[in-house]
Amino acid sequence: MGKYSVETIAAQAGNHVDPNKAVALPLYFSSNYRHDSLEEAKKFDPNKGYTYSRIATPNRRALEQTMANLEAGQRGFALSSGMAAIQLALSILKTGDHLISLDDLYGGDFRYFRYLHSHVGINFDQWNGKRLVDLLAKITPQTKVIWLETPSNPTMKELDIAKIATAVHKKNSQILVIVDNTFYTPVYQRPLELGADVVVHSATKYLSGHNDLLGGILVCKNQKLAEQYFEYYITTGDTLDSFDSWLLLRSLKTLDVRVRQHTKNAQAMVKYLEQDPRVEKVLYPGKGGMISFYLKTEEDVTRLLDNVKLITFAESLGGIESLITIPYYQTHADVELAQRQRLGITPRLLRLSVGLENPQDLINDIKQALGE
Ligand SMILES: *Cc1c(COP(=O)(O)O)cnc(C)c1O
Repeated sequence: MGKYSVETIAAQAGNHVDPNKAVALPLYFSSNYRHDSLEEAKKFDPNKGYTYSRIATPNRRALEQTMANLEAGQRGFALSSGMAAIQLALSILKTGDHLISLDDLYGGDFRYFRYLHSHVGINFDQWNGKRLVDLLAKITPQTKVIWLETPSNPTMKELDIAKIATAVHKKNSQILVIVDNTFYTPVYQRPLELGADVVVHSATKYLSGHNDLLGGILVCKNQKLAEQYFEYYITTGDTLDSFDSWLLLRSLKTLDVRVRQHTKNAQAMVKYLEQDPRVEKVLYPGKGGMISFYLKTEEDVTRLLDNVKLITFAESLGGIESLITIPYYQTHADVELAQRQRLGITPRLLRLSVGLENPQDLINDIKQALGE
């Protein structure tokens, strides 16, 4: 499947896998699997067969293989949340190691970095995403990971992954460049093809796309690293259960059409927002379903959030249903105040996850909420 394009890999997710030749992969609920003999048990290969659900299940394995193919990687891991995938990605760090991240990331990342600093003794630096020389200047002999998110959340900074990965690896080929690809998905961006070493996702967002599950994905391309991750993964047990693996695999089948329609709808919303006199500024990278925008007054922020009827005032993103959030008080509340101020995460910044409703209905909802 690796040689096929994203649409094809997604559409075929789980097909040609089942030993009973089912086209839609059935759901396996069993927590354990039988051995035929001692001889078979001794020769058992945990990368092929099944023994116990923490190690592998048919549904999770099909999902992991599909994700590895979609992200052009060697091996995929499906976890119980995006944060669990981020934890797995950073499980290779040891006390004294150093990580440099972009300064604008999912809020939970900073909370986890702070934990790793205080409990494990890992050191962190941030880069504003502007000049590559500034990033390279921060690299020390202890630097093990460069952590990126593009477009960034919520200020929509875009990075040139290929340029960054090339320059970082030229300086030290051992440094892992890790990219959170939640916003663009492999439909718009395949970081491993651009030179990154590891890609992570909150599968809760576009990959699942229906606001009905919590999950995370990690894909890497180096075999030795994959083995290290596998060891940690089966030991700590943050694995995705069979039911959510089945549901996620099913959702992936429509990933490409969903993401492209999210873009069309978001572009229509941007066109409207840019000419509404109550909107100060719109941040949109040109594709994808995520829009951030500033309203001119906090009164209008309250009015909008209190009165939307179709758009749902809720955290999360990437689903069929349009959602609006206020990062300052919600997703990014744990980012230090000074940093929120520096990044422009203010109480007037809203983040809209444009769903698959008719965009004119969404525009009309914003108009009625703000008052015409
Ligand atoms: C939501 C999100 C996460 C965290 O994922 P969970 O599934 O909520 O644990 C990480 N990165 C990005 C970009 C996200 O949007």
